[in-house]
Formats: sequence, C-alpha cells, structure tokens
Amino acid sequence: MSAHVLILGGTIEARHLATVLAARPGLRVTTSLAGRVTRPGAVDGAVRVGGFGGVAGLADWLRAHRVTALVDATHPFAERITANAAESARLTGVPHAVLHRPGWDLDDDWCSVASLEEAARVVPRLGQRVFLSTGRLELAAFRDLTDTQFVIRSVEPPEPPLPPHCELILARGPFSLADELDLLRAHRIDVLVTKDSGGAATAPKLAAARSLSLPVVVVRRPELPAKVRALPDVDGVLDWLAGVIRPGDACAADTCP
Ligand code: NAP
Repeated sequence: MSAHVLILGGTIEARHLATVLAARPGLRVTTSLAGRVTRPGAVDGAVRVGGFGGVAGLADWLRAHRVTALVDATHPFAERITANAAESARLTGVPHAVLHRPGWDLDDDWCSVASLEEAARVVPRLGQRVFLSTGRLELAAFRDLTDTQFVIRSVEPPEPPLPPHCELILARGPFSLADELDLLRAHRIDVLVTKDSGGAATAPKLAAARSLSLPVVVVRRPELPAKVRALPDVDGVLDWLAGVIRPGDACAADTCP
C-alpha cells in the first residue's frame, strides 16, 4: 500500500507542497480545497473539493482513504478547518502537522486589532479612504461606516453586505511593490486594513504603505490549537514527512493501487 498524504489547501504553500510530493514516485498526494473559489489555480496530484462535514467527516475520510500523513496547509485565518484537522488527527492517530507561515514584521506604530469588527471601530479615527485587503468574507463589519470610502480587492466578488461606498478590484496576486504603490496613490488611500496573513505574496502592500507613511490596521491571527506541530514552510514539512513515511510505504508507481 503506497503512502498517501492529504494536504488541506487553499494557499500558495499548499500548491508548492503538492507539486513536490506529486513528483515522488509511488507517493499518493491529495489536495483538499474548500471550494470557495470558482477558478482555483492548477494543483498537481489528486484534488478533492468541498467540506468534509466537520471533525467526524474528516476522520472518516482519513480512514477511508488510508491517509498516512495529514498536512494542514490552510490559511492562518482558516480557524475552523485547522481545529477540525487537529481533532480528526487525534481521533484517528494519523500523523499531522500544520504548515503555518510566519506572520509579518509589523511596525510599532501600526494598529493591531483582534477582529474585523475592532478594525471597523478604529478606521474612522485614522482616515477616510481605506484600502481593505482582508479577503472577500466578513466585510459586513464595515457596513455602518457611511462616511468612509473603501477600495476592496479580492480574487472573487466579495460577499455582501458591503460598506455603502466601495470600489471593487478583482485581482489575484502576487502584486509587486510598484503595483501596490500605484494602487495606493491612484485611489488616494490614507489607511490600509489587512490581516496578518504573512507570506511574501501579499507583503508588498505593507512595504508600500510604509514607504508612503500610511497608517496600517492589522488583524491579529487566531491561535493554533494546543499541541499541534507547526512548521514554517514547505521544507519543514518535507523534513517532517521524511520521518513519518518510511521508505517501504512508498511503492513503485506501476505497482500502486
Ligand atoms: P474555515 O472557516 O476554517 O472553514 C470552514 C469550513 O470550510 C470547514 O469547517 C470545512 O468544512 C471547510 N473547509 C475549509 N477549508 C477546507 C479545505 N481546505 N478542504 C475542505 N474543506 C475545507 O475556512 P475559511 O476561512 O472559510 O477558508 C476556506 C479556505 O480558503 C481554506 O481552505 C483556506 O486555506 C482558504 N483561504 C482562507 C483565507 C482566510 O482569510 N480565511 C484566505 C485565503 C485562503 P467541513 O467542516 O464541512 O469540513
């Protein structure tokens, strides 16, 4: 029986990990996507789409598909699936690790908040033209800010209700520093609101805000579940997998079921 790695995906790192593992003869790799994005980028290896049905559903899937190792490479703000993965791994005994990219280095004078609701409370004190770069969900937190102009950027149209005055930019990163400076200047942005997502792909907006001395509101990350193994990058996951998957677990491609 060949080793089978399940990657909970939805991030660039998940896609890179799938590419590396799918190239290994005799190793099966499946990436699971939530199905929120209608045109996800190409992923190497097998792909399944949609929720599992909570902890019990994910545990059933791990057993039914004989998963050897579970890698949670979801976004640092995807709190529920990360909790479910930790609990399903505990229930089934499947080795489990979280690919948890480090957060950004934040400037001391940036405003750190616990939630989008708290961000909405502080924004009116900081500016009137906001670049809201927190993803397409939960923007209802800003809907009562009737005197604020928002520029909202997301891969797919954001989910209503939205703030009353907003301009939508549908675009998929990565964005360069020059792109971000152009955007901030063209829209006369005077405050940036973002989540502490970490990672290189979306960091240039912070560099752009810093270079224009704009105030920045950063939503802090949720805590990881207790006692999970957190690894910072794809290399860390590959090292961990090397200890979890014994050489005999992977078989020659032509003999795998
Ligand atoms: P979430 O609140 O933690 O998860 C909600 C539910 O969606 C989960 O309970 C699970 O349903 C399902 N789900 C989430 N990720 C899944 C996956 N990779 N495969 C299968 N089912 C999944 O998640 P979210 O914050 O809505 O994020 C959804 C996806 O978007 C994640 O995969 C994440 O990596 C990606 N993403 C999130 C953000 C963000 O800011 N939150 C940003 C970029 C990308 P069941 O309980 O039915 O299994």
